[in-house]
Amino acid sequence: MLNEQKLLDGYRRLMEISRDLASTLDLDVLLNRIVHAAADITDAKAASIMLYDDTDKQLHFQVATNLDQPMMRGLVVPLEGSIAGWIVTNRKPVRTAHAHDDPRHYSNIEQTTKFTTENLLGVPLMTKEKVIGVLEALNKCEGDFTDTDEDLLTVLGAQAAVAIENTRLFQQSDLISEFVHELRTPLAAISTATYLLVSPKITQEIREQTIQNILGETQRLSALAASFLDVARLESGRVQFHIKQFNLKDLLEECVSFMQSKAAEDGINIRLDIPPDFPFEADFDKIKQVVLNLLSNAIKYNRPKGSIAVQALKKDGEVILSVADTGIGIPEKSLPNLFQKFYRVRSAEGKAIGTGLGLSICKQIVLGHNGRIEVQSKVGEGTKFILHFPLRN
Ligand code: ADP
Repeated sequence: MLNEQKLLDGYRRLMEISRDLASTLDLDVLLNRIVHAAADITDAKAASIMLYDDTDKQLHFQVATNLDQPMMRGLVVPLEGSIAGWIVTNRKPVRTAHAHDDPRHYSNIEQTTKFTTENLLGVPLMTKEKVIGVLEALNKCEGDFTDTDEDLLTVLGAQAAVAIENTRLFQQSDLISEFVHELRTPLAAISTATYLLVSPKITQEIREQTIQNILGETQRLSALAASFLDVARLESGRVQFHIKQFNLKDLLEECVSFMQSKAAEDGINIRLDIPPDFPFEADFDKIKQVVLNLLSNAIKYNRPKGSIAVQALKKDGEVILSVADTGIGIPEKSLPNLFQKFYRVRSAEGKAIGTGLGLSICKQIVLGHNGRIEVQSKVGEGTKFILHFPLRN
């Protein structure tokens, strides 16, 4: 009776969850809802989702109730020699009371996460045609996982798989159609220019100008392709973040010196304000990419002889890094859209070439470090981007 009641309660909970799952097309939100639901209905201390990647034949950690995003990035489990891999290959659930005694257990992950798995219940995430990953509940709060838990998690797994597939298809089509749309402008420009070039009537001056245009547009296309790949990779959650400790001052000095000559062309002065010794834990190259992006914008959208202030400080358990310029500013109504892919402020479009992807790449990288990015701006006065990172102990 007790078990039947549990099953009934569980199914009731599952019905609510399935409505909840269908209401979002944001993959991160969806995956988070699934793992929390999985831990909830099976009374487990933790739950996680790994998705299978057919290109590298490995399972990639996506979300877990007990791990944070930077730790999970790049965490992979092989198909051979892991319980999760067995689940994918055999398309069957696994329930084990002592994970460590199971010969299929893959212990490498525990060394990274410092989370010890005691008992485990894993089910395949299966759509009609294929297994897309694994949903696992770990460490039951009391006793071992039961038949009821297995039934409930299997149903949740099936619902979750469909929801994940829908969301992925939606996201891909969305990103690709936006990209194709963005390709049209430079392609049209190149095509027109080429027609012009084959005409025997044009002067030498126009010919040279047209060749310059083609060159500019091809550079734009190649920047667009590179940035697009960055966005697609970051959004898929498969980019590995290499977190290590370094002196933030070194990183900022490198960035400033790299951008110095470009700034000097417009008579722009860059100031750096940071204590000499500023230990910081993050992915050096990714943070450098963010700072270079912000500096490049601060130069592109500045006024001649303007200035840029780069500052870093620690406050209230956070590292705060800011890049402020004395440039054209951003209209208030554009601020909410600024971090969206391909968004460019219309009034600034003529001022500098760009892809509209830089800030969305910055945002993804900052989020990958559990941080946040803010912007303050006043038209005609300037713009300040502020990054907040939680201090790691
Ligand atoms: P882009 O490649 O167009 O520079 P971003 O994603 O880096 O793409 O920036 C999006 C838009 O935000 C830019 O097109 C520009 O209109 C605006 N913007 C970004 N940084 C600044 C800044 N420092 N000052 C004024 N406008 C900015």
